[in-house]
Amino acid sequence: MENRNRVDESHLIHASQLDLPPRLLLGPGPSNVPPRVLQALAMNEIGHLDPKFIELMNEIQELLRYVWQTDNRFTIPVSGTGSASMEATLANSVEPGDVVLIGVNGYFGERLCDMASRYGADVRRIEKPWGEVFAPEEIGDALKAHRPAILGLVHGETSTGAMQPMEGIGKLCREFGTLLLLDTVTSLGGAPVFLDRWHVDIAYSGSQKCLSCPPGIAPFTMGERALEKLNERKTKVASWYLDMSMVGKYWGKERTYHHTAPINMNYGLREALRIVAEEGLEERWERHKSNANLLYEGLEELGIGCHVPKEHRLPSLTTALVPDGVDSKAVSGYLLRKFNIEIAAGLGQLAGKVWRIGLMGYNSRPENVNLLLSALKQALETVG
Ligand code: PLP
Repeated sequence: MENRNRVDESHLIHASQLDLPPRLLLGPGPSNVPPRVLQALAMNEIGHLDPKFIELMNEIQELLRYVWQTDNRFTIPVSGTGSASMEATLANSVEPGDVVLIGVNGYFGERLCDMASRYGADVRRIEKPWGEVFAPEEIGDALKAHRPAILGLVHGETSTGAMQPMEGIGKLCREFGTLLLLDTVTSLGGAPVFLDRWHVDIAYSGSQKCLSCPPGIAPFTMGERALEKLNERKTKVASWYLDMSMVGKYWGKERTYHHTAPINMNYGLREALRIVAEEGLEERWERHKSNANLLYEGLEELGIGCHVPKEHRLPSLTTALVPDGVDSKAVSGYLLRKFNIEIAAGLGQLAGKVWRIGLMGYNSRPENVNLLLSALKQALETVG
């Protein structure tokens, strides 16, 4: 007779202990994580309402205000990856029928359009070829034509390596009564970001790029204008998990339970932010810039150009043009196999045309640039 209590062992595998290759992550993220952050992640668990954890939450919020250069009281890490925080900005600011204008000059602009439409926005697009940026006059004209409730822009487009100049755009948005929403996933901690000076109303970021913390926790901030729109909503935020009117009660004065915070990810983020603060923002931006310059020079010596004009390059992510006749995948495969170095292929309009090389946070160092350049030279000679 069949024994109904017998355990089905068909999925029982004997997985080996983790043994990971020592990769040098010079792609679009994640970047390598400094030992101090890894140690913080491994510290003992405390409760998510423990007074010590609350102290730590306050420190994270204050350090996030520093890296973002904002006084926004509503500044928190979302429990999730950058896309969760990205979705939170739209879920909380968009009401069905709102006109939302998105700057689309790369993959993440497209994602903003997709997310906004899922929250019922009337999405309008202002477009540029991948690798180009928007001029303030172009933004001004689009604001005039569409009168949007929200303008969404990507500051550092990881798919193209272009950095959107922000001077003047926030002021234009104020003139048209538009909220300015900004993606700072690949720029935060690696390039100048001045949220308040730029009049940004709502922004998000990720942990795994220039902050050099593992993915899984994602900075989010909103200013008073965005909060006002949230408080005056006629409809509930369509996502329970990302509803900031509820999440805010955990991170604000009330400290009431919403969901269990990912405790150790918060330890990790706190340590990563402490490292940024110790180095100092200006020093950190300068380091990213000088290592990016070293990369551009070395690429040029190898006969490799960059897709983005120098004045609009994102220091943390470079799109290097694949020379004619070179098999881009064979080269990146060689770097991974022979050198344990990860770089990435181009996406969308740039598929097969560029390699995406990241020099983010902990990984933005001259020795990494030099190692990559000599490995790339060998790869081009061998499999290029
Ligand atoms: N925005 C930009 C510019 C990104 O580069 C990324 C990730 O690469 C995201 C948003 C989404 O973040 P995540 O992949 O952590 O969900």
